[in-house]
Amino acid sequence: MSDIIRLLPDHVANQIAAGEVVQRPASVVKELLENAIDAGATQISLIIKDAGKTLVQVIDDGKGMSMTDARMAFERHATSKITNANDLFDLHTKGFRGEALASVAAIAHVSLKTKREDDDLGTILEIEGSKVVNQEPVVTTKGTMISVRNLFYNVPARRKFLKSDNVELRNITDEFHRVAMAHPQVGLKFSSNDTELFNLPISNYRQRIVNIMGAKTNEKLVPVEEETELVKISGFVGKPEFARKTKGLQYFFVNDRFIKHNYLHHAVTSAFEGLLKEKNNPTYFLFLDVPKDSVDINIHPTKTEVKFDDEHSLYAIVRASVKHALGQFSINAIDFDKEPQYEVPYEYTKKNTSSPKIEVNPDFNPFSNTGSSSSSTSKSTPSYSKPAPQAWESLYAGLDDSSTLLDETEEVSMTTSMFEEEKVTRNIFQLQRKFIISTLKSGMLVIHQNRAHERVLYEQLLKHITVQRGTSQQLLFPLRLNLPVDEVSILTQLQEQLEQTGFIFKTLANNVVEIVGLPIQLKEKHVPEVLETIIRDSELDLPKESFSQSDRLAATMARGMAIRSGESMSQEAMENLVDELFACKESELTAQGKKVFINITGESLNLKFN
Ligand code: ADP
Ligand code: MG
Repeated sequence: MSDIIRLLPDHVANQIAAGEVVQRPASVVKELLENAIDAGATQISLIIKDAGKTLVQVIDDGKGMSMTDARMAFERHATSKITNANDLFDLHTKGFRGEALASVAAIAHVSLKTKREDDDLGTILEIEGSKVVNQEPVVTTKGTMISVRNLFYNVPARRKFLKSDNVELRNITDEFHRVAMAHPQVGLKFSSNDTELFNLPISNYRQRIVNIMGAKTNEKLVPVEEETELVKISGFVGKPEFARKTKGLQYFFVNDRFIKHNYLHHAVTSAFEGLLKEKNNPTYFLFLDVPKDSVDINIHPTKTEVKFDDEHSLYAIVRASVKHALGQFSINAIDFDKEPQYEVPYEYTKKNTSSPKIEVNPDFNPFSNTGSSSSSTSKSTPSYSKPAPQAWESLYAGLDDSSTLLDETEEVSMTTSMFEEEKVTRNIFQLQRKFIISTLKSGMLVIHQNRAHERVLYEQLLKHITVQRGTSQQLLFPLRLNLPVDEVSILTQLQEQLEQTGFIFKTLANNVVEIVGLPIQLKEKHVPEVLETIIRDSELDLPKESFSQSDRLAATMARGMAIRSGESMSQEAMENLVDELFACKESELTAQGKKVFINITGESLNLKFN
């Protein structure tokens, strides 16, 4: 019998290793940018085509490579950055594993042009799937240019895994931001499909953040400075009002390396305690300098986790210094309770409720493609449960004697009219600025105000998008928003449907949109948030399944526009909301299938007292 174990050929081993190092175009971007930084570049350009699927190119003015090194660079475990294991504890560079270039070269067409300052000639090198296909001397300037074309050309399974260009571009942008923020002493440019997205001059940390995040960021930053034996902290936190629902504006850098750290994240969040609205995330850009031997940078190239020697002390120091910074700017005093008392995000008039044409159309079935159907249960999409068989009128029947006035033939619009008859006897109040309690003859309803409103808006918006154009309120002063280019392109793709809802806008430049009209239910101050939600949801590339694009848009907008938990509501607004809710095709669940209210019967209360 012959032996059967063999060593894998290098190009196969490289391809396997590549799977770990290079998961998406953004991984290539990260490795190439870090190499350029390690090479001491002062100017770096990143150029990509088709979200990196066609081309990722990085040009730097760093120290370059000799002809031999250029070739060596693509060998596995070939690195100039460490010579023995001890060096690992005194790292001054991003890279050290010597794997990145070998990996990239195994799964793409790579070309390299490089020259050291004192060499007369530079080198051109072309590699396809780990094989050198060309190497020759060339006249060029100091520095290195690496172009990575047709990523995963020989790994079709990987190619298929890639997300839409929007998502991949966002990942690349994230990597670019991380490197750019950590290295303000390096000028960086970034262009995508021949459009320049960023041109960041050499600057200080604050200016760099502002250049990346937009001019308005400056006034929102609170500096954090702290120096102890264990750690030196510098950087900024965003004032609480700068907090957003989206994660993503949280940056920790340890010794100039971007990291994620849940424990430290918690330290910052807890320093903001009481200052943030529900579910908002604080913004922070914090740079920690720790002694090199007190931190273990996970040596896996794609991981961003690190392990500190003394995490507990670090936690305390981070928390205290953020708290201190916030205190110094005396913004701890912000009292969210001071909001105007009866502020509700939608205009309400009596007229509106009693206008069954819009709110209560028994023939309208938002889930039906075939037009009207008098049975709201027949064509619902699978993701919606049918309205409960128990008719609402039965819950309210007998509330007082006047209920006998009800017209039994009107099924759907009944609740609206019935409430009007019974306003005298129905008790409605708000609990913890979150729930609406409505008494019933048989017990009480506990309604989740945010979800209820979301449901109502969702049905209205869906109707506008699919059936009729929603009313748009003209803005007296058009609203201009500066957004990242990729976000603007998402909005443009959705433009037609957004217009149906009453959202009218035009693109002025590739990163500026001007909004001229809003859906009537939408307040101007909620616009950025709603757009953010729409963009985020669309970026997530959610599986479509039973949801149509319009359905998703309606659900997203409803979520962004709905009255929040924590907002107080007037008596009238609560009554109207309850009426509208029960005029919905489906009152029990939100578009995402979350429970909208709970019905607590007198009987179940009785049981509790037994
Ligand atoms: P690592 O960065 O872990 O050393 P890489 O595979 O990323 O491994 O790079 C291998 C080697 O190629 C580096 O150690 C460095 O000597 C050289 N190199 C890579 N990119 C550049 C660059 N932009 N400028 C100069 N040298 C570079
Ligand atoms: Mg490297």
